[in-house]
Amino acid sequence: MMIVAILGAMREEIEPILERFQYTSVEYANNTFYLIDYAQGKMVVAYSKIGKVNSAITASVMIEHFKADYLIFTGVAGSLNADLKIGDLLLATSLVQHDVDICAFGHKAGFIPETSHYIKTNEDLNKIALKSAKDLKLSIKEGIIATSDQFICSSDKKEWIKNTFNADACEMEGASVALVCEAFKIPCVILRAISDEAGKEAEISFDTFLKIAATNSANLALKICENLKKKL
Ligand code: SAH
Repeated sequence: MMIVAILGAMREEIEPILERFQYTSVEYANNTFYLIDYAQGKMVVAYSKIGKVNSAITASVMIEHFKADYLIFTGVAGSLNADLKIGDLLLATSLVQHDVDICAFGHKAGFIPETSHYIKTNEDLNKIALKSAKDLKLSIKEGIIATSDQFICSSDKKEWIKNTFNADACEMEGASVALVCEAFKIPCVILRAISDEAGKEAEISFDTFLKIAATNSANLALKICENLKKKL
């Protein structure tokens, strides 16, 4: 039986999924996990709470405790690329931690020894994600995501991240989740819809567009799950 984990950071990011199914819930490690029977398998759905540490805990629990075989992250992000507008979808090909700084020792920004500098997502799953977007007639771009424990809402900071990491979007959970999945050898997709442009007043844009962007991403996450089940 195949188990697919669907993870968001905030309740709003998984609510569109929970609304569509009947579920049971389990409390574990200071979090709630929603279990859904789906096709011949199961989905385990949760929101981690914001940030790299919380999302790493929840991803680890989904894999080690709930035995997820695949993980799909769904949520919203700030755009660093002028071609990515509010509501647009971005599929991460690789992710980097932009707040990691041990540059004093001659390391590049974002690099931690003995780990991947840019953590790759799973190519086969990404192909399924692209096909799923096509099925739903949604346009989607592929790109690099820069993750940190900071909400980016300044044009200076935005330019620095964009130029230093060649990143297309910024958020607060993707790289940590991808790192967990890499460590446990669990294929993952990191999917984001744009809620803001990470510049001045990004927080106002975020509040305005969170729901619509989160729903766009969640709808595609479910389609990916459906197509994944068909393939296996
Ligand atoms: N409104 C929330 C805080 C949201 S923090 C509260 O008050 O509790 C922003 C969340 O959305 C994070 O989970 C992050 O992954 C994502 N995100 C969207 N836009 C972002 C940006 N410009 N910078 C960083 N993270 C962003």
